[in-house]
Amino acid sequence: MKIALNKVHFPITTLGHGRRVGIWTQGCSIHCPGCISRDTWEPDDARAVEVGALIELLAPWLAEADGVTISGGEPFDQAPALGELVAGLRRHNAGDVLVFSGHPHQKLFAEHAAVTAQIDVLISEPFEAGAGQTLTLRGSDNQRIFLLSDLARSRYPADMDQSPWPTKRRLDVVLEGDALWMAGIPHPGEMARLRQELARRGFGCQTSDQREPVVRA
Ligand code: SF4
Repeated sequence: MKIALNKVHFPITTLGHGRRVGIWTQGCSIHCPGCISRDTWEPDDARAVEVGALIELLAPWLAEADGVTISGGEPFDQAPALGELVAGLRRHNAGDVLVFSGHPHQKLFAEHAAVTAQIDVLISEPFEAGAGQTLTLRGSDNQRIFLLSDLARSRYPADMDQSPWPTKRRLDVVLEGDALWMAGIPHPGEMARLRQELARRGFGCQTSDQREPVVRA
């Protein structure tokens, strides 16, 4: 079975406990207004890889990672492949698997129980730009966090679903060729401020809340 990917990276330190493997799927059918990951929306078969081959590729990272974070795109748009992926990750890593989804949690637990039963932490609900952004690990305050395993409950605060962001947020920043991408959840308006600051310094910039993330000198 194949899964379409936007990117993979290790280590990611801003999307869960410890140093994590980050996996971003390609394709999102939800299209939340204000999404900062527009580059992940288009389904793209050219980005599909065999799940088994992906697990083999990730194995060296998985051997030392504290866990895995899967985001998108919308991972549950490829639910059968997601289930196979999580099962494979479990064979190579004893840490927690955290999955972001833009679907309501009721739908995920009812329609994708075979997948949700395998994950430790689920962060659900669509991004709502007007809902505020004060709660940890969430882009908007309507989103929910579910700690689904003993491991998750031992690693994350019991009241995490209501926990506020720390005063200072961090982002993982990665430079690849002439493109710069960030993992983590920026403050509201931060992408626009980034564009303004880069423009002030003479860089043409398009960020992923507009379209493809590209920064050029
Ligand atoms: S916020 Fe997530 S679920 Fe919503 S459109 Fe963006 S990638 Fe899709």
